[in-house]
Amino acid sequence: MRLKDKVAVITGASSGIGREAALLFAQEGAKIVAADVNDAEGEKTAAQINEANGKAVFVHADVSKSRDCENMIYTAEEIFGKLDILFNNAGIMHSEDDDAVSTEDDVWDLTMNVNLKGVFLGCKYGIPALRRAGGGSIINTASFVAIVGAATPQLAYTTSKGGVLAMTRELSVIHARENIRVNALCPGPLQTELLMKFLDTEEKKQRRLVHVPMGRFGKAKEMADAALFLASEESSYVTGTTFTVDGGLTAAYVTPE
Ligand code: NAD
Repeated sequence: MRLKDKVAVITGASSGIGREAALLFAQEGAKIVAADVNDAEGEKTAAQINEANGKAVFVHADVSKSRDCENMIYTAEEIFGKLDILFNNAGIMHSEDDDAVSTEDDVWDLTMNVNLKGVFLGCKYGIPALRRAGGGSIINTASFVAIVGAATPQLAYTTSKGGVLAMTRELSVIHARENIRVNALCPGPLQTELLMKFLDTEEKKQRRLVHVPMGRFGKAKEMADAALFLASEESSYVTGTTFTVDGGLTAAYVTPE
């Protein structure tokens, strides 16, 4: 088992990457605090783990709220005794996120509060707990859009993910000698709810796939596998990286037919 006796807090654990990571980390021996705003689905994630003889609790946490983030970390230490892994994964993509001219202030603020401040707050309360445990691993979910620009704009989303990359690098340097590693996971376009609700026709899907050398969307499980590597001791010399898992998207200038 690659995470035997570890304790992990995973945000956005009611769906997509977060849920797959919770299930996978639990299979690998970790005790899971599944945090999300979607209580019904989050309870399902925890129940699925417990039914398979794993250990998990769900905690309601809006990552943009300081008190909720404090509580999710408290829950890990209170119920499971410590924190070893913090996966700051929750994120939103607003349907009215657009270019600089069209994006409303409230859309910008909401996106920044969840996607960027949420990572900050996770770290604000998580890092003291990781210190108390003698170190650990933080994984922050960014996106390929933080690396390459797109003409179909989602300016707030893209900017928030760029911030996640910058924050990750700085945190990795600050905490490198405390045995706390901090890495960013950069998924390509995925077959999860977040993206598929926008790419709702075959034509829209194919238009996006033109840019992916592998010619398919990624799966949440493939991101969970990458996060598992970053969470485990196998990545013990890896910190401050932009860990890109994107089917070759950011490497491509022209993709194969
Ligand atoms: P998803 O929509 O399936 O899951 C996101 C989860 O975050 C949901 O369970 C949702 O309830 C939760 N969430 C939303 N707001 C929250 C808040 N304020 N507090 C706590 N939880 C909240 O999406 P996903 O594809 O699994 O996305 C996970 C991460 O991956 C996000 O950060 C996303 O930006 C990033 N990402 C996704 C893609 C993609 O194509 N799907 C690509 C690159 C990066």
